[in-house]
Amino acid sequence: MTAFTGQTRQDEAELRSPAAPRPVLKERGQREVFCGLTGIVWLHRKIQDAFFLVVGSRTCAHLIQSAAGVMIFAEPRFATAIIDDRDLAGLADANDELDKVVDRLLSRRPDIRTLFLVGSCPSEVIKLDLSKAAQRLSKTHMPGVRVLNYSGSGIETTFTQGEDACLAALVPELPADDAPSLMVVGALADVVEDQFRRLFDAMGIERVDFLPPRESTKLPGVGPNTRFLLAQPFLAETARCLQERGARRIAAPFPLGVEGVTDWLWAAAQIFGVPRDRFDATVAPGRKRAQLALERHREALSGKSIFFFPDSQLEPPLARFLSRELGMKVIEVGTPFLHREHMAEELALLPEDALVSEGQDVENQLDRCRDAAPDMAVCGLGLANPLEAEGVTTKWSIELVFTPIQGFDQAGDLAELFTRPLDRRARLAV
Ligand code: SF4
Repeated sequence: MTAFTGQTRQDEAELRSPAAPRPVLKERGQREVFCGLTGIVWLHRKIQDAFFLVVGSRTCAHLIQSAAGVMIFAEPRFATAIIDDRDLAGLADANDELDKVVDRLLSRRPDIRTLFLVGSCPSEVIKLDLSKAAQRLSKTHMPGVRVLNYSGSGIETTFTQGEDACLAALVPELPADDAPSLMVVGALADVVEDQFRRLFDAMGIERVDFLPPRESTKLPGVGPNTRFLLAQPFLAETARCLQERGARRIAAPFPLGVEGVTDWLWAAAQIFGVPRDRFDATVAPGRKRAQLALERHREALSGKSIFFFPDSQLEPPLARFLSRELGMKVIEVGTPFLHREHMAEELALLPEDALVSEGQDVENQLDRCRDAAPDMAVCGLGLANPLEAEGVTTKWSIELVFTPIQGFDQAGDLAELFTRPLDRRARLAV
């Protein structure tokens, strides 16, 4: 389900901040985004011994079931404990019921090592203190199972914040470790993680950890000698929690496209003292493959205009990639939140004439999109059908989170995600 939240108040202001000297249009109004429960779709695939128990309503159950699909041959690693409408006097019962659901689940599924209780936004769930429930259940089920909690609520959020909240919940569990290490933060497809690991190995960076890990029992250590690279641009809270544990962020653009991947890897290589010639030799084959893969898409995309509605927080790096490597004309880069520090490198690479907007007032933004008549709009599912009906070719932003797009060997696939809708429309027009 898409969550419609916020006031209809229009509050626009041109801002300039020292970290991001470009003007940013700030909007607050009706937003149209998926909620943070959506992150379970990719997180349950990534952390293979974790289970995600949504504590929510029937609506939450429908969302998660339709977004993640039904696994017929495998035991699912997500479910919804439906909390019905009840008053505060019924809270003790709700806690008892939750404990029973968890007991039943864990006795049936001995493979689960970490259980995430995922909060949602119905009022009857908000009344439940899930962090206390997680502490209580952890006491019962440790050392076999660790129980953690985070919120996937659709109030004042956007769907990628679910991953941020999940990873932030893991950070206090990371063992303290003073050894120098590089930590790559953000869920990546296993194939992408393997590619990056090989590249860091070839550069001679000895200890590289990934958060989240594939197995929740193998949490990486963290400490003052941990330097971390964000692989996803929506991890503000996770980064803050890691910094509280003493780790330091490596400033870099995000690993999308030839330029983004090269600069992201080089930012880490410099910190770990990798000589430039060794770095160049390591990345040269991947860069060449990616450049070749992009060539055939450049013809289709060059000169085409694109408009980003705010949805995934991936919008600035995608806009940078599409404009600089494929010649697209970026009209507006809408993003739900703009972390000026994490985005500083990306903002510096965006075309001067692209409007950057933060937040949403959907009607205003639709008007701007109609006026601009772009060749393509990147938006959430709720806006895609109406825009298509008005003749605008659309790309669902959620696909960009479900698909492996980071790394050299995925650059061509990333470009193809944008050529395909244009190709489909051209065919329909014949
Ligand atoms: S958490 Fe809120 S927005 Fe998300 S599915 Fe449940 S009720 Fe809907």
